[in-house]
Amino acid sequence: MNLKSSKVKMTIVIVVIALIAGMFGVFAYQSNQKRKAEIAAKKEAEREKKLEAQASMPVTNLTIAPGREYTMKLDGTKAKVKWSTDDKNIASINDKGVLTSKAEGSTKVTAQYFKKKFVANVTVKQPKSVMATGVDDGIKEVFLTFDDGPSVNTAKILDILKQNGAVGTFFVTAQNPKSKDLMKRILKEGSAIGAHSYTHEYSIYKSEQTYFDDLNKIEDYIKSVTGKKTKLVRFPGGSSNTISRHYATGIMKTLAADLEKKGYKYYDWNVSSGDAAGKLQPVETLVRNATGTKQEKAVILMHDTQVKTTTVEALPQIIKWYKDNGYKFSTLENTAVQSHQPINN
Ligand SMILES: [Zn+2]
Repeated sequence: MNLKSSKVKMTIVIVVIALIAGMFGVFAYQSNQKRKAEIAAKKEAEREKKLEAQASMPVTNLTIAPGREYTMKLDGTKAKVKWSTDDKNIASINDKGVLTSKAEGSTKVTAQYFKKKFVANVTVKQPKSVMATGVDDGIKEVFLTFDDGPSVNTAKILDILKQNGAVGTFFVTAQNPKSKDLMKRILKEGSAIGAHSYTHEYSIYKSEQTYFDDLNKIEDYIKSVTGKKTKLVRFPGGSSNTISRHYATGIMKTLAADLEKKGYKYYDWNVSSGDAAGKLQPVETLVRNATGTKQEKAVILMHDTQVKTTTVEALPQIIKWYKDNGYKFSTLENTAVQSHQPINN
């Protein structure tokens, strides 16, 4: 063995040792990275599981009329929910959870939140009676509605609503020029405004032209005062009124169809306080009329004109009954609930 060859051997040994050490190093680094990634994935999975556990679906059975929009919800969520329906011909749903019912039948709505799926059964069905509101989601809901204002009583009504954490829907006229601030206050305090009539003269029922002239005027008035357009409408006298017969036969049927075609929603009521009567009604009568309902969705007719003082006095007791009976207070804005009376002309 010469010196040169032993040097070469030595070099080879060193190189081999270095290579092996290097390989171990890389291997150790790689397994460390892998472990780090595994820990991160486990942490993420735990976080997702925790978030999933905090979510819940309040409505898992919904019956709804065709052609309505209903917002499905997943409570307690902090990240994006992926919504879908099994049968888009029955009902479709957008990424905000707004369900549009289309044709009669049933479908499932799925809310996917991380890996967890929440499922609701949706039945689309035409209500048997025109009086039905077309929404059954197991949630008791009351819609307080006030016609013919605003007036000084509207301020008192808003005070009562505020004290009780309640809201209402006000179908306004333009008959009280001092009411502009009240209209702004209605919206500011979370209640809603709908169009009733500019004049509240029944002669608006002479023709489609006269009706829509009046409706457009009150709409423009609302927009000019509040800056907000409304598509909520209540007919003077309701859609079931017979006074319109004196002006035009069949006009209510025509107007009801016109409104829906033009994208408005008109609302009657399924509970009447009875305060429309010419003679001022006693508080007890109004409370008795407006409470005790078996309706899951109650749309109550009341009036907030200046003369209807007993309505203001009755309101706290009416609100109390609905609170005691587990009702939630909502406005007619953004609801699938629609209350229609049978049309008589
Ligand atoms: Zn009215």
